[in-house]
Amino acid sequence: MAGRHFLQIPGPTPVPDRLQRAMHRQMEDHRSSAFPAFTRSILSRLPQVVHQTHGEAFVFPATGSAMWEVALVNTVNPGARLLAPRFGQFSHLFIQTARHLGYQVDVLEEPWGEAASPERIEAALAADTAHEIQGVLLVHNETATGVTCDVAAVRAAMDRAGHPALLFVDGVSSIASLDFRFDDWRVDCAITGSQKGFMLPAGLGMLFASPKALARVEACTTPRAYFDLRAMRANNAQGYFPSTPALSLLYGLDEALTMLLEEGMDNVARRHRYLATGVRAAVKAWGLRECAQRPQIASDSLTAVLVPADKDARTVIDLAFRRYDIALGSGLSEVAGKVFRIGHLGDMNALTLAGALAGTEMALADAGFDITLGSGVGAALAQWRVPA
Ligand code: PLP
Repeated sequence: MAGRHFLQIPGPTPVPDRLQRAMHRQMEDHRSSAFPAFTRSILSRLPQVVHQTHGEAFVFPATGSAMWEVALVNTVNPGARLLAPRFGQFSHLFIQTARHLGYQVDVLEEPWGEAASPERIEAALAADTAHEIQGVLLVHNETATGVTCDVAAVRAAMDRAGHPALLFVDGVSSIASLDFRFDDWRVDCAITGSQKGFMLPAGLGMLFASPKALARVEACTTPRAYFDLRAMRANNAQGYFPSTPALSLLYGLDEALTMLLEEGMDNVARRHRYLATGVRAAVKAWGLRECAQRPQIASDSLTAVLVPADKDARTVIDLAFRRYDIALGSGLSEVAGKVFRIGHLGDMNALTLAGALAGTEMALADAGFDITLGSGVGAALAQWRVPA
């Protein structure tokens, strides 16, 4: 198809030309004496993305799912108890990973479309007077439902309960797009992947670890090999990696950090909020509802749109793809067929997003939704227009 494809899923996100060019290069010796300067350029700047000044950041050739495992096996002893709210497919998969690794997870069930409840987390931790629970697993931005949790409120709840559990935060669809305050929220392990806010292909996983989490690494008795942070730390300290690094992606990450830090992380978060406002106005103008049950928890990196019971969201997604060359995110697991998702994170501005909303709107009309063409786009433009 002529023209540009609109990759509007909530990750992978479109890779800017600048990052494609940065990755397009010859391989080199990752054990050379010149390599440490490159490693340090990445590892010294990566923490700024999450406002981290204490602890360390790590990069693995892996995806977000692997980083759940990296965080857990390096800091939590075998069979330990963990606490996790479940409110969507990714919080579900985080829990599954922990269980597959042999941990016992106390699950706080929330409706899909709701956020984690700080009050319920506080109550569960307060009831654990023996302090058996070793960690709280929190997905900051639930990509399945377009819901953002209040990490600061969860940290405050943990403090009120006076509980020493580690705070594990999945920031896969929030880090490098939404505001993420690693120090202020006293996160212990935050994880993410390269294919969302970092605007790169999938293949790099990042872990941000607090001094408290790092202190656990040496003593942790959970077996691990490839994912052992001890080997990664020792090599990183010399400017190297324990195994062959994913060089092209690292060159992309180096440039992505330059792009993000040039814009400034506060501006990145502001841009995502501004874009999300337009998408939410479009959804309202179409007469549809968001999966996020309250405006306060609606995500700025993606919007999951509910379709009425007599419609199947898969039809909209397929019509959009075949007729208008736009990829919308599908509904996962419990919400399959009930929602379609519009990703609005990464390399995006109001005009690209206006095009995406136009494609979505045509697909909705083709699928028999009673909407006026232009209504959603018009509502978004009214939000985005810069007043004279
Ligand atoms: N966590 C969240 C919130 C996600 O959105 C995703 C993927 O979309 C993952 C974890 C899993 O990451 P990956 O697909 O990179 O393994």
